[in-house]
Amino acid sequence: MKYISTRGQAPELTFEEAMLTGLARDGGLYVPEIVPTLTKDEIAEMAGLSYEDIAYRVMRPFVGESFGDDEFRGLIKNAYAGFAHDARAPLKQLGPNHFLLELFHGPTLAFKDFAMQLIGQMFQAALTKRGERVVIVGATSGDTGSAAIEAFKGLDNVDVFIMFPEGRVSDVQRRQMTTPPESNVHALAVKGDFDDCQARLKDMFNDHDFRDEVGLAGVNSINWGRVLAQVVYYFSSAVSLGAPHREVSFTVPTGNFGDIFAGYIARKMGLPIRDLVIATNQNDILHRTMETGAYTKEGVTPSISPSMDIQVSSNFERVLFDVYGRDGAAIQQVMDDMSEKGSFTISQGAIETLREEFKSGRVSEDETSATIKDMLPRSGEVLCPHSAIGVRIGEEHLSDVPMVTLATAHPAKFPAAVKDACGVDVGLPTHMEGLFERDERVTPVANDLTALTTLIRERLNK
Ligand SMILES: *Cc1c(COP(=O)(O)O)cnc(C)c1O
Repeated sequence: MKYISTRGQAPELTFEEAMLTGLARDGGLYVPEIVPTLTKDEIAEMAGLSYEDIAYRVMRPFVGESFGDDEFRGLIKNAYAGFAHDARAPLKQLGPNHFLLELFHGPTLAFKDFAMQLIGQMFQAALTKRGERVVIVGATSGDTGSAAIEAFKGLDNVDVFIMFPEGRVSDVQRRQMTTPPESNVHALAVKGDFDDCQARLKDMFNDHDFRDEVGLAGVNSINWGRVLAQVVYYFSSAVSLGAPHREVSFTVPTGNFGDIFAGYIARKMGLPIRDLVIATNQNDILHRTMETGAYTKEGVTPSISPSMDIQVSSNFERVLFDVYGRDGAAIQQVMDDMSEKGSFTISQGAIETLREEFKSGRVSEDETSATIKDMLPRSGEVLCPHSAIGVRIGEEHLSDVPMVTLATAHPAKFPAAVKDACGVDVGLPTHMEGLFERDERVTPVANDLTALTTLIRERLNK
């Protein structure tokens, strides 16, 4: 299995190399050269299996020679052992034909743990074999950073630096990043918004001297290994609702387009997904793009669903690559337009294909709160604001096949917004008690490439 860049100029890599690299050297994102498919019988055989067994069957074809069969099974087992629910990704029924896929039972209470815990295992195994060290740098709107720190803290062959937008993450999110005492963890509060953090991250990867000097690795959702791990719960949930004999639809609260792109891959692998619905908050660039055919960057307006406060949706490049007929030069052109003018127009053929693959909707702040309030008496569920956005859009797209809405975080991660909406004080689960008593360790830093690279070099040389 070979991985190729969406911009067509970087070398082809194996799964392990693509995972350790993150962003391709031509600025593109790695995708598999061919998406393997599973037969109807192979999907049917997943019914009744454990999450880990389904994960193995879904991911094995993508991994190639990078890990042995038993080794890969072991990594999957370790990755999910710390989850607080035996089903890992349990389904709850919200109403007629509407189901909630709870993806928040991992150690940091957001769906990011599904990918990050596995990536942590895979990095450790690969680096140990190679006898190498890496510096992981990540940008986060809150949840990726805490999940990455949880997955990599204390590992011998990794330093982890996480940039978050100062003042724009919730207290729980910040404390999850700033309280781990392990010396290989570095939380950086950047003076800017999430898009600034993500832009500086790309700058670091494009600074090839720095990249090679420190052994830079990325675990943002641009990392193919993360997308892959997220494909699994589309299969596990669809199969428990009758796939492959019955179609299933999904609604996905979307920011960086990683989670929903995993659903798109599941469909390409043969899972009968009818609708794949993009749900955005007021920072609705993806919804506007689907409506107008123009991808136009505007400012980010902070919302009560901060993990979706994004205007530059990195993984969108992967789907563009497909709808542009896998033409790397065309993608390079589109991305050049984007950096020069802050916008680009999608070609007629490409937007038509996108509209066949995805539906979309946007939810205002008031509607988000109203949905949290409304769903509690109707279903008994206390939704986090991101999940509420999904549920609202999911309800608008109910049909004769089951709708699965992805619940991306636990409400305890966003207690203020939840309390304002429905009056409920959601406490932290027992494994996180004490979070507010621990000391914080954080370094403020300017939104500037040189300031960041200088800081990272200093820390590594200590
Ligand atoms: C990251 C995140 C999202 C958005 O996921 P993408 O893969 O970036 O689209 C939604 N909700 C929560 C709680 C998140 O942490």
